[in-house]
Amino acid sequence: MADFRLYNTMTRRVEPFAPADGKTVRMYTCGPTVYNPAHLGNFRTFLFEDLMRRVFALRGWTVRQVMNLTDVDDKIIKRAQEQGKSITEVTEPVVEIFHRDREFLRIQRAEEYPKATAFIPEMIALVETLVARGVAYQADDGSVYFAIGKFPAYGKLSRLDTREVKSGARVLQDDYSKENAQDFALWKSAKAEDEATGAAWDSPWGRGRPGWHLECSAMAMQLLGETLDVHCGGIDLVFPHHEDEIAQSEAATTKTFSRVWSHGAFLLTDGAKMAKRVGNVFTVAGLREAGISAAAVRHFVFNTHYRKELNLSDQALDASTEAVRRVGDFARRLRSPATLELGGTPGLAHGAEAAVLRVEEALFDDLNAPEALAALFDFIRMANAELDRKGGDREAVERARAAFDRIDRVLDIVPEEVRGDTELVRWVEERIAARREARMRRDFAASDRIRDELAGRGVVLEDAGGETRWRLS
Ligand code: AMP
Ligand code: ZN
Repeated sequence: MADFRLYNTMTRRVEPFAPADGKTVRMYTCGPTVYNPAHLGNFRTFLFEDLMRRVFALRGWTVRQVMNLTDVDDKIIKRAQEQGKSITEVTEPVVEIFHRDREFLRIQRAEEYPKATAFIPEMIALVETLVARGVAYQADDGSVYFAIGKFPAYGKLSRLDTREVKSGARVLQDDYSKENAQDFALWKSAKAEDEATGAAWDSPWGRGRPGWHLECSAMAMQLLGETLDVHCGGIDLVFPHHEDEIAQSEAATTKTFSRVWSHGAFLLTDGAKMAKRVGNVFTVAGLREAGISAAAVRHFVFNTHYRKELNLSDQALDASTEAVRRVGDFARRLRSPATLELGGTPGLAHGAEAAVLRVEEALFDDLNAPEALAALFDFIRMANAELDRKGGDREAVERARAAFDRIDRVLDIVPEEVRGDTELVRWVEERIAARREARMRRDFAASDRIRDELAGRGVVLEDAGGETRWRLS
């Protein structure tokens, strides 16, 4: 098995990677702030994380991924206040849209999607620990802050000069109640709008609500343990979000919070970061309206390495649509009963194995999806040529199918219409095998039942010379 390597933002190096217990990868991914449907930039990051979890599975590891949903923050409270709603009334429909969009893009479900508002007691307990350890204090404004001056490792992830951070930023701060301008809020004392929108809770420091960074530390440690295998997010989260998560978690436990930090680069439009503020936002709904398939979006995202910036353009999306059409044509050909009948060649079987090796090597080397895609397209070209030779080797076709399935289980770029077909073919083949088995047991009632079941979906069977062929009526 090829080595597994991953870039670690903490060390700025590609390093060997394996889960601490050798079996299960405990993966924490910062999720969306649910006040607006996530944009394609957010989804680039979520697709990079989807790729990562699928590559871990390909490597044989179990994945336990947690993605938080930030359902209390300034923007959500502002929106709720404007609309005369509670924060929950604002966030609930957006959470639903998030999952719809996620499913459309075939992003696998994480094991858990904790909401910040469901972990208030855990967050309060963490702040109490930090206060008890003397690294957090309550200021005159009633809020509780983390004292970065008491945590010497502050800045180790982002490698910012903390002196510069401390003095440089002071003048820009309008909040003088903090001891140090860069101290960040763990717990914010409640304002009228927090109370009005259901965003305030009792705490040892009075009514208030959690600061943004706190939720990730509390939920990650609660659900995955004090040391994670990998913590992911977009590159903009390195500072201050992840730096502050490290400070809160490590000051409380004195353990390493995450063994590896992994960040995806931005999606740009016309050279600028896609962001709600800038107004250059594309949504999944917009893509669907434009008729762009999930397969094409996945191809578009995976065709650039996750650590390189990616520019969204019509031409790139068109090229990806064309590329996945070829993948779909190939999947259809490979799946067709006629292809199996005509058979392959020894070259096809060898090529299939070589393709899987090349894909695995690429993906296990810091998730090199562009190289994996190149290997897949080389395989498709080679396999089409070999299949044209009608070599009669059924085993070779079976191997090509298995190779293609193994690769596509990670990339998942077969267009929907073909995927529907392939699912039918898989189902029919599975039913035919079950029927053959029933006949071998001489259970003819079961065999007839399966024939009827197939007929119910328009599949006609023909038994000839010990073989069962099928066609759609
Ligand atoms: P947010 O909903 O703003 O908390 O962001 C959710 C995730 O999307 C975070 O991991 C961000 O780093 C990521 N993100 C935000 N904008 C972009 C972008 N233009 N390209 C890639 N990732 C982004
Ligand atoms: Zn986070």
